[in-house]
Amino acid sequence: MDIVILLGAPGSGKGTIAARLASEDSRLRHVSSGDLLRGAVAKGTPAGVEAKGYMEKGALVPDALVAQMIKDVLAETEGDVTMLLDGFPRNVAQAEILERTGAPVRSVVLVDVPDEVIAERIAGRRTCPQCKAGYHVKALPPKVEGVCDKCGAALVVRKDDNPETVKDRLVVYHRETEPLVAFYEAKGLLRRIDGDQGPERNAAAFKSVM
Ligand code: ADP
Repeated sequence: MDIVILLGAPGSGKGTIAARLASEDSRLRHVSSGDLLRGAVAKGTPAGVEAKGYMEKGALVPDALVAQMIKDVLAETEGDVTMLLDGFPRNVAQAEILERTGAPVRSVVLVDVPDEVIAERIAGRRTCPQCKAGYHVKALPPKVEGVCDKCGAALVVRKDDNPETVKDRLVVYHRETEPLVAFYEAKGLLRRIDGDQGPERNAAAFKSVM
């Protein structure tokens, strides 16, 4: 088992890239901290109850809470798989926790998208609450408006995808997550791709550097 970390702002398309690559290659496993947390919130587990308020504000949930979820996934992952880790680590403290688990990080790929593009992308974002597939009303529309191509569920706008919360999430990204670029660059693990090429070419670019 090894790990490829996806770094990028909210709405940079890292989740879309990871989901696409994982659907094409059974040795790749997409692990999204945001999906794990939303699952815990939906189930009402103690971790979910604690995380909910932070998520709705666009703040980071406590490091220990999210780190434990990721450690659980690492512990149950065996064999010849590459984990595409999306949304974790999100600050230097989390990166250090990951390092202490001893899990091998193969590379860290920064999906680079300007802030101006992000705001528009998130405004059009739609998500399947059931199978977690992501769509965009213009860039990646479902075949039938409002309906998930994969499982037929009604698509929703995520609660934290409103313009005010998006602004806060971008501030948090620049302050907390961006320092990871230098952190992993210093370790010689960082690669960058232009994340503004459309879903298919983004995924191909990612695959070629990961
Ligand atoms: P996006 O990448 O679009 O911001 P995510 O689904 O990755 O969306 O995250 C949604 C929310 O979940 C974040 O705003 C934050 O509250 C919480 N979250 C996800 N991953 C982490 C993490 N590693 N540490 C702290 N909070 C997290």
